[in-house]
Amino acid sequence: MAKLPKPSELAQISLTPPKKPWMDIVTEMRQGMFCHGAKAKNLAALELPNARDWKPADEDWHLPEDWKETVLNGIKERLEKFRTFHVFMDICVRCGACADKCHFFLGSGDPKNMPVLRAELLRSIYRKYFTTAGKVFGKTAGARELDIQALKEIWYYYFQCTECRRCSLFCPYGIDQAEITIIGRELLNLLGLNIDWICGPAANCYRKGNHLGLEPHTIKSSIEFFLSDLEDITGISIEPTFNRKGAEILFVTPSGDLFADPGTYTAMGYLMLFHELGLDYTWSTYASEGGNFGFFTSMDMAKRLNYKIYAEAKRLGVKWILGGECGHMWRVLHQYMDTFNGPADFMEVPVSPITGTKFNSAKSTKMIHIVEFTADLIKHNKLNLDPSRNDHLVVTYHDSCNTARGMGFFEEPRYVINSVCNHFHEMPEDTIREKTFCCGSGSGLNASENMEQRMRGGFPRANAVRHVHEKHGVNMLANICAIDRASLPPLMDYWVPGVRVAGTHELVGNALVMKGEKERTVDLRNEPLPGKSEGGEADV
Ligand code: SF4
Ligand code: SF4
Repeated sequence: MAKLPKPSELAQISLTPPKKPWMDIVTEMRQGMFCHGAKAKNLAALELPNARDWKPADEDWHLPEDWKETVLNGIKERLEKFRTFHVFMDICVRCGACADKCHFFLGSGDPKNMPVLRAELLRSIYRKYFTTAGKVFGKTAGARELDIQALKEIWYYYFQCTECRRCSLFCPYGIDQAEITIIGRELLNLLGLNIDWICGPAANCYRKGNHLGLEPHTIKSSIEFFLSDLEDITGISIEPTFNRKGAEILFVTPSGDLFADPGTYTAMGYLMLFHELGLDYTWSTYASEGGNFGFFTSMDMAKRLNYKIYAEAKRLGVKWILGGECGHMWRVLHQYMDTFNGPADFMEVPVSPITGTKFNSAKSTKMIHIVEFTADLIKHNKLNLDPSRNDHLVVTYHDSCNTARGMGFFEEPRYVINSVCNHFHEMPEDTIREKTFCCGSGSGLNASENMEQRMRGGFPRANAVRHVHEKHGVNMLANICAIDRASLPPLMDYWVPGVRVAGTHELVGNALVMKGEKERTVDLRNEPLPGKSEGGEADV
């Protein structure tokens, strides 16, 4: 594995443009900046073409003989199928407004990470084979041949885009590089050129219902482990149900919440909240993944993996679905689920059984986000909260790209956090809400062999955290995304040591005063609560 440079070395970023035109610069694929190729067994499990073991650093990628024809046919098919793709191939005026908006460009200085140039890598092929000017004038018209170098370059840079859509916010034409990247990855997929960090979890999901490949009994025992911790902390015994037919609500969350800290503390927060409300809900050990790594493979794969959620809701006969804290899970649910696998006419428009609020925003999907559910509870004064239990935390909030830009979900998380914490500070305005910076590891890039790529891509986000860390003493980065809970801790350790990461419902769980609970002395991490530890005052 490539050695990760020190932060002081990585921070030396040159933004000086190269002297040669981009087409004349041969791309060097540097270790640490890309992920392992998808393994044959995972490609085969997903029934993807050209299943074989391959390594991106190898000269020979073991492509089928007709690979070029496959890609060109794939482009043709998608130009006909996706109008946005066709329009985005034609309308860029190269104004450069998007150029410095990508976190990967800001963190690497590599011009091919400018969104305009990332698109150009594919657009140049489009021009060569699908436009008259490109066919006649070639390079003069910005066209180039599809050869193996061009293919490798597209692979390298399309797996350096997290499909975050920040660039599209600044484009006067609304060109969405995320959509171009999605299509670019679909084309690569036709040749079996995905990465293993995407295909492995997607294959697990296809076989077992979740990215981690957890069996039903493992899911149940993971949750039981949390229940035992919760009983120690609160004195309350919680008994959730699994796969219960006739429950009012099906709860679906990313499997990361069941497996790795700090997501596990978020899951504990959910369990406490639902118990306190006496919610008629059930977990499912089959629809056991809200996330969807199929989305980073192709629209067809995303649809396939998403199918289980409605299928399980139908099997159990629930009225509506509640979803946990996740980013890309919600992009898929919010923007695609209804047309992928809906309409979900067998369910009802979600109504909170506690407040009576009808969530008309979910009229069609029948699924709401737990943060809007909780914000509504707080608004109606239905929770007994003691925010001083989070007084050891000085919190800021990272908007996940997918919930922020993909859903317009800005106020609810802030409202919840400010109701359960006394110390909150926003990061600078141009780094939050719709202008939020990506964690640098989204869209399936959260592997370990590409750490330099992730630390570079996460640099602008970390820089904004560093600002509030130094100015206000921020020591906790809250979020509502499972990928963030996995990717931000190493990013913070690297760029802003001393800042930890928490899901919003972990903070809710800390503050929630439950009926009949014993006096709490520790938080959900088993760390002393302010003023309640045996030794006296906790550090603030
Ligand atoms: S979608 Fe995000 S990662 Fe991709 S080019 Fe745009 S800003 Fe960069
Ligand atoms: S902002 Fe839009 S039009 Fe301008 S260079 Fe970027 S993609 Fe092209």
